[in-house]
Amino acid sequence: MPVKGNILVCSICDREQAQINFVNCEYCGSELGAPNVNIVSTEIELDALQQRYDAAIDYASKNGVENTLTNFHEFFTKNVNAIINLKLPVLKAWVVNNDAYKNYHRAVEDGNRLIATLKDDQRRTVIDSVFHGSYGRDIVYAALTLNEKGLISYGECSIIINEDAIKLRASTLEENSFSFIKAHNLNLEKLTIPAGFRSNWENKIKLAVAKLYQKIRNDDKNEFCRFVLFSDGNRETDDFIEVHIYKEITSLAIKQIYIPKPKGTKDKLFVKAIEQRCLGKVSIT
Ligand SMILES: [Zn+2]
Repeated sequence: MPVKGNILVCSICDREQAQINFVNCEYCGSELGAPNVNIVSTEIELDALQQRYDAAIDYASKNGVENTLTNFHEFFTKNVNAIINLKLPVLKAWVVNNDAYKNYHRAVEDGNRLIATLKDDQRRTVIDSVFHGSYGRDIVYAALTLNEKGLISYGECSIIINEDAIKLRASTLEENSFSFIKAHNLNLEKLTIPAGFRSNWENKIKLAVAKLYQKIRNDDKNEFCRFVLFSDGNRETDDFIEVHIYKEITSLAIKQIYIPKPKGTKDKLFVKAIEQRCLGKVSIT
């Protein structure tokens, strides 16, 4: 980890960097790791998250649900994955045409997708910038899941990503970034994101416990899954822990794909092509 205390330190030349958001060492030019991960790995962030986590454990202890929280902890750690949901043609373009899956802005620049409507384009640009500044253009969004269900409001195909492909470049945010901005009144006057609501990949369990501890009252595994990710097709009511992944994702990073049974001829051809490119990784649901 290149962050020591609250300072970014080059792991090659061991020099301290002037800013936490540098991606290359200002002395030797070496890469400093994913900036989103570095930013949430400062002492300030880690301490704030730890305090929220400790408060959750204390609450569980005082309310007689310690064992239940321990069971959630174990179930989460064993089953958690990052998941991306896409519409079938977008998934097909990713894996069959051998394009990497990229942030919205990069996809528009590459000509791989049309610009969104003015309002959606403004919203996407603001969100990327509020959380990440310039490198927001290189952040790919996913969600945490404890089963094979993802955010169906973004597409019917669910793609589980291999942990090894993202664990050094993924950070998590307690909720959807748009609702987080609203909930914490972030704007151009107030851009500081409160500490303790984001984590690196290693600490995502602490973030999940800090968010969900008051809901976890019994050992129902289906509820555990629902608490971590709820989506019934309406983006307004989606509830999830957001994953921010630095840089594009190639199809080699895919662990498993879940696709609803295709109906039309075109969709069947798409699914067949995806199956051929991702042998043994496609499940028809
Ligand atoms: Zn250096």
